[in-house]
Amino acid sequence: EIKSSKEAIALEDKHGAHNYHPLPVVLKKGDGVYVWDVEDKKYYDFLSAYSAVNQGHCHPRIVGAMTKQAETLTLTSRAFYNDVLGKYEKFATEYFGFDKLLPMNTGAEAVETAIKICRKWAYERKGIPENEAQIIVAENNFHGRTTTVISFSNDEGARKNFGPYTPGFLKVAYDDLDALEKTLNSNKNIAGFLVEPIQGEAGVFVPSEGYLKKAKALCEKHNVLFIADEIQTGIARTGKLLAVDHENVKPDIVTLGKAISGGVYPVSAVLANNEVMDVIQPGQHGSTFGGNPVACEVAIAALEVIKDENLADNAEKMGQLFRDEMNAFIDSSNVVNLVRGKGLLNAIVINDTEDSSTAWDICMALKENGLLAKPTHGNIIRFAPPLVITKDQLMDCVSIITKTLKTF
Ligand code: PLP
Repeated sequence: EIKSSKEAIALEDKHGAHNYHPLPVVLKKGDGVYVWDVEDKKYYDFLSAYSAVNQGHCHPRIVGAMTKQAETLTLTSRAFYNDVLGKYEKFATEYFGFDKLLPMNTGAEAVETAIKICRKWAYERKGIPENEAQIIVAENNFHGRTTTVISFSNDEGARKNFGPYTPGFLKVAYDDLDALEKTLNSNKNIAGFLVEPIQGEAGVFVPSEGYLKKAKALCEKHNVLFIADEIQTGIARTGKLLAVDHENVKPDIVTLGKAISGGVYPVSAVLANNEVMDVIQPGQHGSTFGGNPVACEVAIAALEVIKDENLADNAEKMGQLFRDEMNAFIDSSNVVNLVRGKGLLNAIVINDTEDSSTAWDICMALKENGLLAKPTHGNIIRFAPPLVITKDQLMDCVSIITKTLKTF
């Protein structure tokens, strides 16, 4: 049994690959908006596992659905049918308003799946010559860590020495309709536009109002699929079920992950209507664990909790309150330049350079004061608590954050 944080960190350091740089806190328990470390210190979780734990840690309904199914049947593979997948697919497609769902496990896999579907649609429906399809992506995107996905990343750390890269992607500036239109006009082999409705990892960049709606209209005009990566922004995080709902946009393809399981189990999904999804036929795509009965029961419960507990509304209200409180603080602060976000996906920008360690130092001080958050860049800290947070808890957190910031 692990007795101290120091011991746990030393074990990871010695025996684990060094592909992360975590805050030095070792968690052993979670409940709702709280987590506890191995020394029994209690924290507010203001990261929510990168917005996977929207429903709060260890939600009893989701954990209950998982344990019940785990005792009955865990995995059949798709070589056989199971009695949960169809029920889940019906539930989730009605829930999000699409004809069909393709089940995967991780976010990056959902993005890879969307890219494959988009390319196949381009060759078989749009008539783009084989191997010529291009997908437009945004500068500073984050869509995961697989070889193809990092091929169109701007992040040198994510890319360097992982080449050769997958071709077929064109980058345009985010939140720039002129750039999008120019690229759409310049090339007739464009299959899709893959975009985060808010750029999470880039530092919670919210595009101008109307951007998504106009981008979708441009895609329609050019017969190009609009692919919304809602893996971080989806499932109530921004105050609506999907972030595209703020502009009443209906994407051709949506990728979901993270909170579709409430952080209980790796579950991801791709949604599309028949004319797009039906390009995928038996043998052309799949995953051993995708659509397994445990994942399906977990996802149903996680999505029910979102609606039954009105988590989108709560995210909207608590997010507004959070930004109001932070804006009031910023007026008298020279540490924080601005707060931005939607719903409970927010970030503060620190008055320092991108390559500074100030955001990290602030996160270390927040940890001492009982709140866990992580920088996305040297000068940006994301604040994304579970959506079950109450007003009292939120005000308590605002007080921890402002008190901490005052010491910098
Ligand atoms: N897409 C977006 C928008 C994300 O934020 C993330 C993860 O942060 C991913 C894809 C990748 O998800 P995963 O880490 O589950 O592969």
